[in-house]
Order: sequence, then structure tokens, then C-alpha cells
Amino acid sequence: MHVEGNPRVLDGVAIAAEIKAEVAQEVAAARTKGYTPGLAVILVGEVPASQIYVRSKVKTCGELGIYSEMLTPPASSTTEELLAMVDALNKRDDIDGILIQLPLPDHVDTNQLLDAVLPEKDVDGFHPINAGRLLSGAAPNEVLAPCTPAGIIEILKRSNIPMSGQRAVVIGRSNIVGKPVASMLINESATVTICHSRTRDLATITREADILVAAIGRPGYVTPEMVRPGATIIDVGINRITTEAEVERFFPGNAKRREGFEKRGSTIVGDVDPAAFAISGAFTPVPGGVGALTIAMLMSNTVKAAKLRRKG
Ligand code: NDP
Repeated sequence: MHVEGNPRVLDGVAIAAEIKAEVAQEVAAARTKGYTPGLAVILVGEVPASQIYVRSKVKTCGELGIYSEMLTPPASSTTEELLAMVDALNKRDDIDGILIQLPLPDHVDTNQLLDAVLPEKDVDGFHPINAGRLLSGAAPNEVLAPCTPAGIIEILKRSNIPMSGQRAVVIGRSNIVGKPVASMLINESATVTICHSRTRDLATITREADILVAAIGRPGYVTPEMVRPGATIIDVGINRITTEAEVERFFPGNAKRREGFEKRGSTIVGDVDPAAFAISGAFTPVPGGVGALTIAMLMSNTVKAAKLRRKG
């Protein structure tokens, strides 16, 4: 039972570690069957943030025993050149997953490139075939679902938060987070409402949620008045705040946050005002919540892709 003022913190870092340990075991089992799951990451040009993400993906592959390859074509590459690169990876038997790090340079046709990845190697789960399979209610172990939504479902399942029959409200309708997480919640038998920037009377809807997912991209947008006491809050947002006023508003009296802000000139806040966490039953912190799961789910998808393609 929920005791107000005593919410559970859903620890994404611990859950990610658990998933990675399971993936490492599956990789070891695959090796005994004579194959090593393999991931290719295409990083176009030199975007510093993307370089950091890609390096940590490659590093995690190494830690779990997954074969990985990083391809770094120059920013001047044409769509045709990149399509040829994807085609070559599609044909390779040692590559189970292909990830194209976004964003791509403006002159490249991102959709054409994402659609060129074979659906069975689409470990990002962005291909229309995989999006369609998810919508059609494919079993979780038979579809490559996008990593962030898949991570959200793992957090809920592993924290024993019931989904079946629960009211879930998702704020955000992007193809990367909002829509796929809504599909996955429906597949888990939740009753789902999707809200977005045109939704009227948002707070009335969000207050009905047993599970509230915020994927908006606005710092601290969800305030306590929008939350039913005891609800589970999944905060997907990652927003960098850079002003004293924002730090004071979201983290009053929080010495650790202030120290970090003074050191770096910024700190991260989610789409939920931390004051709203205080009345929840459970919540994912930012950082250390949903974001922590993304790489673990990519690793899990790579092994899943390898198994599905080899039928075991
Ligand atoms: P998008 O910008 O693609 O989508 C944002 C959604 O929020 C849109 O559907 C938009 O509505 C809706 N929205 C915007 N303003 C409002 C408002 N005032 N009221 C209600 N709805 C609103 O973002 P993403 O889905 O890609 O990402 C969302 C957040 O999650 C971001 O903070 C991003 O950084 C973070 N993120 C975190 C990840 C992680 O690993 N933790 C991974 C991916 C994203 P409309 O469609 O009408 O414009």
C-alpha cells in the first residue's frame, strides 16, 4: 500500500545491470551453439555527443561478449553511399544488428536509410515492419521493439508494478517513445490514453493515471496537481537546465544538485517536476531511471535478433 511521502525509487541502473548480466549469459549460450551475436554501428561524421553514445555502446558489447564493429563514414557521405554500406551489412551473416546513430547530416535521407535496414537486423526497432508488428500485438520475445519503450516495460515488470487492467496515460506521441510505449502498454493489457500538445484539459486526464509516462521534452512539465497520489511515474525526459532560477525551482535545498550545477554550469531534469515524485507511489529518477536502460535493451535486442534469425 502507498504511504504518502514515501515513494519507491525505481532504480534503472540496478535493473540495467540485471539485464546486462542476463544478456552476457545468453551470449555465452550462443557461443556454445557456434555463433557470436554481432552488432554494427554506423556513425556518420563527427558529432561529439553521438561519438560518446556510440563508444559506450561498443564498450558494453565488449563487456558482454557481443562482437561489434564501428563504421565511421565522413559527414560528406551521400545517401547512396550509406545505403550501400547498410546493404553490405544486411548481407553479412556475422552481423545480427545494425544501428544507425542519429541524427544524420541534413543532406542524408534518414527515413530511407532506416527503412533500408533489414527488419530482422533492426535492433533500434524503428523499421515500419517492426512498428507494425508491435501494433499487431506480437509477443515481446518475437519482435524487436524500440529500446527506450522496451526499457520502460522492463522497469515496470521487474518492479512488480501491475499493468493489466491499469489506467496508463502517456504524454507524447513520438515514433521513438510515445507511440511504441503506448502499444506495448496495450499489449500488457493496460487501458491507455495518449496525450500530446493539442490535448485539452491534460491534468484531468493525467490525474486518472495509475501509470503516468512523460515523454515530452519540457523540463519539469508535469506538476503535482497533474498526478494522482500513489501513481507510478515514468519520467522519460532528459532536459539540461542552465539557470540558477531553474535549479532553485526544481531542486530547492538540494546541496548535491547545486554542487553539480556550480561545477558544470548545468544539470539534468526530466519532464516531471521532482515535487510530483513526492506524491507518487513509485517513480523513475532522472538521471538513473529510464535512460539507464537504453543500452541494456540494445544489447538485449542484438541477442534477440541473433536468436530469431537463427531460430534459436
Ligand atoms: P518529441 O519532441 O519527438 O515528442 C514530444 C511529444 O511531447 C510530442 O508528441 C508533443 O506533442 C508532446 N508535447 C510537447 N509539448 C507538450 C505539451 N505542452 N503538452 C502535452 N504534450 C506535449 O520527443 P521524444 O519523444 O523523442 O522525447 C521526449 C523526451 O524524452 C525528451 O526529453 C527526450 O530527451 C527524452 N528521451 C529520452 C530517452 C531516454 O533514453 N531516456 C530516449 C528518447 C528520448 P505534439 O506531437 O502535438 O507536438
